[in-house]
Amino acid sequence: MSTATHPEVRAGRSSVHETVEDFEEFLGDPRDPGSRITFAEQMEYDEREEKAVPAFDALAEWGYPLHYVPAAEGGRFHDMERMFGLIRSLARRDMTPALSSGATFLGAMPVWGWGDAAQRARVAELIKAGAFGAFGLSEADHGCDVVAGEVLAEGGDEAGYLLTGTKWPIGNGIRSTFATIFARTGPAGPRGFSAFLVDKEKLDPLHWATEPRVKTLGLRGADVSGITLEDCPVPADAVIGSRGRGMEEAIKTLQISRTLVTAMSMGVADTGLRTTLDHIRSRRLYGRTVHEIQVIREQVLAAYVDLLVAECTTAATARAISVMPERLSLWSSVTKYLVPGLIDEVLGSLGSVLAARHFMREGVNDGIFQKMLRDNRIVSIFEGTSHVHQHVVASQLPSLLLRPEYDLNTEALLQDLYDHEYEPAEWDLRFDRFKLTNGGLDEITQSLPDVVAAIPAEYATLKQVAAEVLAVQEKLQQGIRQLVKQGNDLHSNARGFTLARQHCLVHAAAACLHTWNANAGRGGFVGRPEWVVLALQRILTRLIPDQQLDPDSLVVVEAEMLSSWEDERLFSLVPLRLGGTGTD
Ligand SMILES: Cc1cc2nc3c(=O)[nH]c(=O)nc-3n(C[C@H](O)[C@H](O)[C@H](O)COP(=O)(O)OP(=O)(O)OC[C@H]3O[C@@H](n4cnc5c(N)ncnc54)[C@H](O)[C@@H]3O)c2cc1C
Repeated sequence: MSTATHPEVRAGRSSVHETVEDFEEFLGDPRDPGSRITFAEQMEYDEREEKAVPAFDALAEWGYPLHYVPAAEGGRFHDMERMFGLIRSLARRDMTPALSSGATFLGAMPVWGWGDAAQRARVAELIKAGAFGAFGLSEADHGCDVVAGEVLAEGGDEAGYLLTGTKWPIGNGIRSTFATIFARTGPAGPRGFSAFLVDKEKLDPLHWATEPRVKTLGLRGADVSGITLEDCPVPADAVIGSRGRGMEEAIKTLQISRTLVTAMSMGVADTGLRTTLDHIRSRRLYGRTVHEIQVIREQVLAAYVDLLVAECTTAATARAISVMPERLSLWSSVTKYLVPGLIDEVLGSLGSVLAARHFMREGVNDGIFQKMLRDNRIVSIFEGTSHVHQHVVASQLPSLLLRPEYDLNTEALLQDLYDHEYEPAEWDLRFDRFKLTNGGLDEITQSLPDVVAAIPAEYATLKQVAAEVLAVQEKLQQGIRQLVKQGNDLHSNARGFTLARQHCLVHAAAACLHTWNANAGRGGFVGRPEWVVLALQRILTRLIPDQQLDPDSLVVVEAEMLSSWEDERLFSLVPLRLGGTGTD
């Protein structure tokens, strides 16, 4: 749907961006003590390791939790892209409430996806009343090996089930009113699990307890704890969906949640860069600002470009939830591997620029930088660790070698995935189109040779850099063929993991080119080739040493970064006004 049918939406954007701006405007500038969620207050709660009640009150006032409930149940959920934008916006203030409230959505998703009418109505009622939810998959002894889970559900006739075991560590173990608990209902193996909607208000208090909150590096105000059940009766109708399908439900739910958590990294990165610029544009050394030191200047710009690379990668995965959920088994793992780690690197680099100030729990922007640095560390671990996602990508690489023809359908799909004006349809949160593998289809990277060949000759620098990425892709494919020929499973092989990481970088490069292609016709910064040149060069830095950033492109891209900072716009390829800046 184009903006023509949404006259209130500005060119180059969709109604998603309007929703996010409305949220931003409501919350205000987090540096301003008069705003609804401020860095100073969030820091105080973090120091005290307490829930930031005023932040949750502000979220409730705006109606944020209603976005976790489908419209059919009286909520405001519309599409995941919008959810992604809201999470990014909240996390740029503080990741802790984004995670705590996000765990509620995670706990609710299996109910929206596979639950019956009564379960949906109950969870909607609870969330609308301000209750928290939890998603209980992890167990202390099994971590990533979720299929080895031991929490047991015995019984299953009309009398219901008895649940026994501990889910730990999980978000909102204590604060939650409801939880989705994955428990064994059959012999070991993926078909041996079922998901249960556990309504704590209806449990017998003699048969369950919470585990104490864990002390953590970051997210200190979050409730990271657990739930223990001991012969705890739950009714037969607590099963979500079909008995024995719990693991499939968990895996499909995680395809969404692992995409959404990267929105937290994106929000954190925005604050990291903004805080750095706030400091180095005014701090003076040797008679000039720190930003005027040439190496600092390029380092900060590199961080900005990395942020754009992360955005191109993750925005299309969030869009794919609406447009092509069949591809999420691969694309969500690529995104979850790449984005949190990239943002860890961005924050590490910016931390060195902030120098002593990055280490202080006070001072520049109330010391929020060190909190962001600590908080982002967990994003590459929960919802599947970085290794787990490399494993998923590696296992699918051989099937991607056969390249389907680039046809009009591919072109239309890529336009839908990357067009900033795309208007996502309302989704009922049912998972019918989700798959457990991509079946060899990956239009994003498989189209790369065609897309590179189509770059107009006038963009000589871009053409040359894109050709280098293509050469990397060809070498990567040779590597995959070689491992397959040697009879190696890529997912259990260090070389296979290296190839998986390279694939993720090629995917990111393709995402940048597709973003440019899909939006270039409208002009503006996104239509300029310079940011794509630098984005591809930053990606190549991680594949081929000794890359120099193109000096002509640096000037153009730096001007955009600085105007986003000065005009209080999100660091993004989509112009998005931040809270506290008033209206146009
Ligand atoms: C703040 C926080 C919130 C959380 N929230 C939730 C929640 O809401 N719900 C929930 O269910 N869980 C939650 N978790 C748990 C989290 O998802 C697990 O901690 C995570 O899955 C990793 O498990 P582990 O730390 O036990 O690692 P382990 O399983 O012990 O892994 C050890 C090492 O082996 C590596 N490894 C594992 N598999 C492979 C493989 N196939 N190939 C190569 N290497 C591999 C890992 O990457 C890691 O380096 C949360 C954890 C934290 C810290």
